[in-house]
Amino acid sequence: MKKHNFSAGPSILPEFTIEETIKAIQNFAGTGLSILEVSHRSKEFEAVIEEASSLFLELLGAPAGYKVVFVGGGASTQFAYIPQNFMKTKAGYVNTGVWASKAIKEAKLFGEVVDVASSKDKNFNYIPRGYTIPTDLDYLHITTNNTIYGTELKTDIDCPVPLVADMSSDIFSRPIDVSKYAMIYGGAQKNLAPAGVTFVVVKEDLLGKVDRVLPSMVDYRTHIENGSMFNTPPCVIIYSALMTMKWLKNMGGVEVMQRKNIEKAGILYNEIERNKLFVPNVSLEEDRSLMNITFVMNPDYMELEKYFLTFATNRGMDGLKGHRSVGGFRASTYNALPRESVEALVAVMQEFERSH
Ligand SMILES: *Cc1c(COP(=O)(O)O)cnc(C)c1O
Repeated sequence: MKKHNFSAGPSILPEFTIEETIKAIQNFAGTGLSILEVSHRSKEFEAVIEEASSLFLELLGAPAGYKVVFVGGGASTQFAYIPQNFMKTKAGYVNTGVWASKAIKEAKLFGEVVDVASSKDKNFNYIPRGYTIPTDLDYLHITTNNTIYGTELKTDIDCPVPLVADMSSDIFSRPIDVSKYAMIYGGAQKNLAPAGVTFVVVKEDLLGKVDRVLPSMVDYRTHIENGSMFNTPPCVIIYSALMTMKWLKNMGGVEVMQRKNIEKAGILYNEIERNKLFVPNVSLEEDRSLMNITFVMNPDYMELEKYFLTFATNRGMDGLKGHRSVGGFRASTYNALPRESVEALVAVMQEFERSH
């Protein structure tokens, strides 16, 4: 039976990415060697990292002055690197969930953190709006897509101070105006590649403004100067990321992705609204994520929750269990998830409704 992969991360990748990675594991770029065993200094791998860097910026539509680097450690490591690179005395954070809270905790190690806005009062099921951003902050940090709760800020906000965004789970899902950001970063394992690489897109002229001593690996300038090769990069993962980016470009880029993502999410949200057994976790339509669609059992049918998960799993649906802090279900509909998977899930929800 064909499996439909709704996992939140690591998550579905284009078949193209998996097939091309398999080929490179067997014979990388005609070298007669596996990409698992070649030097990152080989000319074949240098070509990969150069192409991955330029294609990343091209797909984002980044203007001149922005650089991308690929590093290890996950988005979680960046939570501590961001304040070290950008915070002189004070930074602002918008707290929209567990990931934002973890970023805040790390930032507090390096200076004063201002809670500019938060949606904690309602278990993070909305995007805060209408807040004032103090102009004396060194930067403001936001999380554009809150993977756990299924909320998403789908516009690029105007910000009077440098804006830093965790885009781990919605990178390349829509066009963005990169010029509004000082830095965009994320773990690759949600919408780009297997786990193991982190992308950091940064406006270069904002670096080097802090007084503190930065270890080489922490200083973004080190990685820029060395083309992501200061230390050994995760070669295979970067290769897979390049394949996903080629697939994305071939599909028509982020504009086409956004259209497909809106369609897919629309189909599923409509069914959640229509089906008497389910209710959406996020009520305000404009706050609903196009990447992680969260829904819970209608309270009148709560006893059916565990049966639905088994019912859906038996019909080929994988990764639908909601995060423990929200409960219910989460269908992640990342770029690589085909529309047929969403339609298959809707059919399963309708079948379940008929049998109850
Ligand atoms: C998954 C996730 C993270 C954590 O990423 P790691 O690479 O595991 O450190 C951070 N932020 C968001 C929004 C995420 O979805």
